[in-house]
Amino acid sequence: MSDSETDNVGQRKGIAVFLCGCRGEISNKIDLESIASAIKEHPEVVTVGIHESLCSREGQQFLKGEYANKGFDKVAVSACSPNIQGLIISRFLEAEGMNKYLFDQVNIREQCAWVHADRERATSKAKSLLLGALAKVEKLMPLEDIEVPILGSTLVIGGGVTGMAAALDIASSGFKVYIVERSNDLGGRAYKLSMTFPTHNCGICCMQYCKECVFTPKIEDVLQNKNIEVLLNSNVEDMTGGFGNRHVKVKTLEGCKEFDVGTIIVATGSKTFDPTRIPELHYEIPNVITTTELEQLIVKQRELGGGLKRPSDGKNPKTVNFVQCVGSRDKVKGNLHCSLVCCTYAIGQAREIKKLNPGADVYVHYIDLRG
Ligand SMILES: Cc1cc2nc3c(=O)[nH]c(=O)nc-3n(C[C@H](O)[C@H](O)[C@H](O)COP(=O)(O)OP(=O)(O)OC[C@H]3O[C@@H](n4cnc5c(N)ncnc54)[C@H](O)[C@@H]3O)c2cc1C
Ligand code: SF4
Ligand code: SF4
Ligand code: SF4
Repeated sequence: MSDSETDNVGQRKGIAVFLCGCRGEISNKIDLESIASAIKEHPEVVTVGIHESLCSREGQQFLKGEYANKGFDKVAVSACSPNIQGLIISRFLEAEGMNKYLFDQVNIREQCAWVHADRERATSKAKSLLLGALAKVEKLMPLEDIEVPILGSTLVIGGGVTGMAAALDIASSGFKVYIVERSNDLGGRAYKLSMTFPTHNCGICCMQYCKECVFTPKIEDVLQNKNIEVLLNSNVEDMTGGFGNRHVKVKTLEGCKEFDVGTIIVATGSKTFDPTRIPELHYEIPNVITTTELEQLIVKQRELGGGLKRPSDGKNPKTVNFVQCVGSRDKVKGNLHCSLVCCTYAIGQAREIKKLNPGADVYVHYIDLRG
């Protein structure tokens, strides 16, 4: 150990950089020595260490020794996932007295070693990532955890299955819950689905093709729970206060209701895609409909009989085409994501159509099947 490395142990200043070889997973693919040599030149860096397994017991001993002897107060690591092994490594250092907020880790295993065949380019990318971490660590300030009192009541915005499940869980622990639902019913979208995957039952209960809702267990559980107050036809109008203690004003049909909560859960669900955003699909044509509109037609015809009828002239369609993934992976007119439900939903609806109109040909056009 050089004098300059030990000099600043008392006052703790500077950055330590540790590169993990992951027992060859990284070191066989990336030139860690060359990255270490380049990083050593950085003016804030007091030490650079390469270890083959930072998350192991030997790695822990290595870090312990480095922290005791090298005088740094901040650490940048290149290894694997910062959210898994990174937490273990930062906890080792925290146990030795380091402030955990002065730590950063980049993933050069999954993001470099495992995905690039070319050693030189993988090394160059790993070096860039580590320099990024170093730039971030330079600016980090030590923080202290504080405890803040939190009121034991919760506001849940949205009374769909997510909001109801959250409210029941919290209420069962003895806390007061307010559910604010803007429509006139609990249940959300699932309540409006006449059959859901994987069971082909109604979205809320266990029965198939139920005509009228007579008993909805989850909704009943919520309505009967003494710790849950349900505000239907309501909207949150204003919220003041701070972390753990918020004053909420809710506009209801009866007027304004005010209460204090410690936590808030936003469970407002999703919106269906607006097909007019893709003009070439000609949503203005009566027989071009969305799957949620098809759902209503299916429910209606199940009751009336006579098979599925097309909206334009009430005749049974000979062919039904599902155009899937509309608006998905479309940067310009749609969303980058995939809904993850419409594949299975369309397959379920195709089966229902075949039950209602056995002679109809049903085609499903898709980019891929992810749902
Ligand atoms: C076409 C389609 C088919 C599907 N099929 C299936 C299936 O077969 N099987 C399956 O398991 N899942 C299916 N899903 C998914 C399922 O519907 C959702 O996972 C589920 O409804 C999510 O529940 P949620 O409570 O998060 O949201 P939602 O059900 O959307 O509920 C959100 C609630 O919040 C309320 N709300 C919204 N904004 C506010 C506001 N600002 N203030 C107050 N209240 C508000 C809404 O009125 C609604 O009641 C399907 C989804 C779609 C779109
Ligand atoms: S810290 Fe991550 S990269 Fe290093 S040995 Fe452990 S698993 Fe491998
Ligand atoms: S009783 Fe209500 S929740 Fe149950 S299957 Fe019928 S419609 Fe669905
Ligand atoms: S892959 Fe399936 S779930 Fe995803 S957008 Fe296409 S049809 Fe919908």
